[in-house]
Amino acid sequence: MSEAADLPSLWTHEPHIHLAFRPGDKVANIHTNATPGFSGKKGDAPALQAERNQRLAELQEMLYANSKTAGDTRSVLLVLQGMDTAGKGGIVKHVVGAANPQGIRYTSFGKPTEEELAQHYLWRIRRALPPAGHIGVFDRSHYEDVLVVRVHNLVPPDVWGARYDEINAFERELVDGGMTLIKVAMFVSLKEQKKRLAERLERPDKYWKYNPGDIDERLLWPKYEEAYQAMLDRTSTDPAPWHIVPCDRKWYSRLAITELLIEALEALNMSWPPADFDIQAERRRLAEA
Ligand code: AMP
Ligand code: MG
Repeated sequence: MSEAADLPSLWTHEPHIHLAFRPGDKVANIHTNATPGFSGKKGDAPALQAERNQRLAELQEMLYANSKTAGDTRSVLLVLQGMDTAGKGGIVKHVVGAANPQGIRYTSFGKPTEEELAQHYLWRIRRALPPAGHIGVFDRSHYEDVLVVRVHNLVPPDVWGARYDEINAFERELVDGGMTLIKVAMFVSLKEQKKRLAERLERPDKYWKYNPGDIDERLLWPKYEEAYQAMLDRTSTDPAPWHIVPCDRKWYSRLAITELLIEALEALNMSWPPADFDIQAERRRLAEA
């Protein structure tokens, strides 16, 4: 075993339980700079992250291998929702990025195109779902259709209002089909968001992430808070529960989401697929080849 694998876990609670949204939880009360369930410090993060990324990569490969050779049709979908600067891109880069791209299906959902707008809002979502053996990653998702759409009334209230139940039915269908959904709501404080937006304005390597519209959305936070609350209240279901991750400390949010992924993959109880050929015979053939 490598040295990194000997590190103590530093988690005092299983993140999927500790970070689970519970009925009655209020978005307004989230401590965005907290590190729930984690007893370590920032200085512990790099080594632990590296170790856990390795574990994640191993599990991902196992999922992929089972789909290729053992007919396992299961898949995993990580749904990342959060306001600008919450760190969705960082999760993709620093957590998912450690896995083999072959088994990852990444999609970021921006403002719908003309083509997408002409379709049902779940059309583009269905097209992006991970195939068997893959981990799908949604950077934003169908939840934009009850968040930004609700805040800006892009469709009438009875239309977005009907979407909560529709989304629940859609997700149940996915889970029944063998997909594990890991829904993560990422929350950053307004103060931390201001700092991160300021950084985007100061660093030439970050201009590309800056969008003048981010400030308009920021000013609408009370409305977004309401929309996020309704999303959590109405779409955290048994088959597809929400998790709340405080994101003021990037090192924590990355560790936490890594654990959520690892826990979900471990729950699939996978092992390496057995050889579907005669190993001894193949060894002999190779020796003589
Ligand atoms: P970013 O994630 O920074 O690339 O920004 C994507 C933008 O697209 C955000 O402002 C989202 O709110 C917006 N967006 C994503 N999905 C939708 C949607 N269904 N309707 C309207 N705007 C959307
Ligand atoms: Mg943005």
